[in-house]
Amino acid sequence: MSEKTHDLIIIGAGPGGYRAAFLAADLGLNVTLIDPELNPGGVCLYRGCIPTKALLHLARIKTDAEHTEDLGIKFSAPQVDIEKVIDWKNKVVKQLTGGLGQLVKARKINYLRGRAKFINSNTLELSGEKDKKEEITFEKVIIATGAKPATIPGLDIKSEHLLNSAKALDLKEIPKKMLIIGGGYIGLEMATIYQAIGTEISIVELTNDFMPGMDSDLVTEYKKASQHIFSEVFLETKVEKIEEKGNQLEVSFMGKNDKSFKKKYNKVLMAVGQVPNSENLGLENININVDNRGFIKVNKQQQTSNENIFAIGDIAGQPLLAHKASYEGRVAVEAIAGKKGALNDAKAIPAVIYTEPEIATCGLSEKEAKEKNINYKTVKFPWTASGRAVAMNEKSGFTKLVIDKKSERILGAGIVGRNAGDMISELVLAIEMAATAEDIALTIHPHPTLAETIMESAEMFDGHATHVFTKK
Ligand code: NAD
Repeated sequence: MSEKTHDLIIIGAGPGGYRAAFLAADLGLNVTLIDPELNPGGVCLYRGCIPTKALLHLARIKTDAEHTEDLGIKFSAPQVDIEKVIDWKNKVVKQLTGGLGQLVKARKINYLRGRAKFINSNTLELSGEKDKKEEITFEKVIIATGAKPATIPGLDIKSEHLLNSAKALDLKEIPKKMLIIGGGYIGLEMATIYQAIGTEISIVELTNDFMPGMDSDLVTEYKKASQHIFSEVFLETKVEKIEEKGNQLEVSFMGKNDKSFKKKYNKVLMAVGQVPNSENLGLENININVDNRGFIKVNKQQQTSNENIFAIGDIAGQPLLAHKASYEGRVAVEAIAGKKGALNDAKAIPAVIYTEPEIATCGLSEKEAKEKNINYKTVKFPWTASGRAVAMNEKSGFTKLVIDKKSERILGAGIVGRNAGDMISELVLAIEMAATAEDIALTIHPHPTLAETIMESAEMFDGHATHVFTKK
């Protein structure tokens, strides 16, 4: 057992854990950060957001180059060197995780490599390198162990051709035909990457559309612009069996009206959600409440039912997004540091699907506004009326606002179009600041930009958008 009791231990160095550790060190706390990797980063940097975005960047360049002929520039067909692509993606990961490692040192954080498990409410067992075990005691702990890809019972066969999101980011060859199971975040982003590098994409989704839960007009607009990505789309269809047949996987489907069929693919990617990393943490040895899916229950300060133990990020429940994890890291650390008013009171959490075109949302969806019987009005500014979008050869997209009819406050927003993910923050701020449609309409936006579509959609609330005629 190590002699010293640690003031604050953070288990897991993803965007939730490392943000919490950095802020705690900045506030003068003595911090220990535990993770199996050499440097902080977690799934987001090593096997998630960042490598995906590196590959999506390449996909965008390649797709753009293929669509410039009508604009007067012709490139010869792009060639993809998959080994170099993966090298480049790995360099991006190394640069960013290495940078975080330097920030750990600069902040004098005690970084321990290994896996931690609770023995009791003030002791952890750390299994370090070469399986060296050590017991360490603590005053406070933040659990930030994240989540991992879910599997479908009975379909998780052992085959090098069956991929999860991490494996799909490391392929050494370009598969000819790939089936993606799940039309959610990962399914749609991976489809964008692999179609761009030359794979024929099929996708199967259990529900009746992609991105279940999202307003259907956003999904429809995305689908209008992305039809070319999918060779086959099977909605309301279940995968019943996956079998290795030679160098391929044979998949048995059960579709609408009990119609069953079989197809073969070179690779199958399973992207059907995430499960929390709450196993093997020794949670049974401490007094905290966990829900039936393994997510740890917390209060508005991210505190569990044990006052010395906090949980943040994916392990603390939906939505499973890096930026929500790092925000919760801040809330937990401020509460531990005794800052008054450290409560999780975020009014809007943005979500972005980095497809082409991107889909970005925040605040209340139209669906939710309806369910809550809110007296709302939606306005939708089409990007075909945006000078900048047309000049960028964007042929679809819109900016939509959900506005409270009485108070005229912005309640929610959805944008479909290139760089929607970079634009949505203006609307998150608008919601946080309780801005009205008029506040946005009276804010001068630079011309010509895609952000003007936010101003013009706000102007539509009164029927005065310059580039859209509203009949009185
Ligand atoms: P998801 O929840 O986004 O989508 C899973 C999809 O699979 C859903 O559409 C669901 O209906 C479908 N599905 C479930 N079971 C199925 C089955 N048996 N057959 C066919 N379809 C089935 O999950 P994901 O895409 O795996 O992503 C996991 C998590 O990672 C998400 O919660 C997301 O928050 C996060 N993520 C975020 C981003 C981003 O912010 N851009 C990117 C990637 C992942």
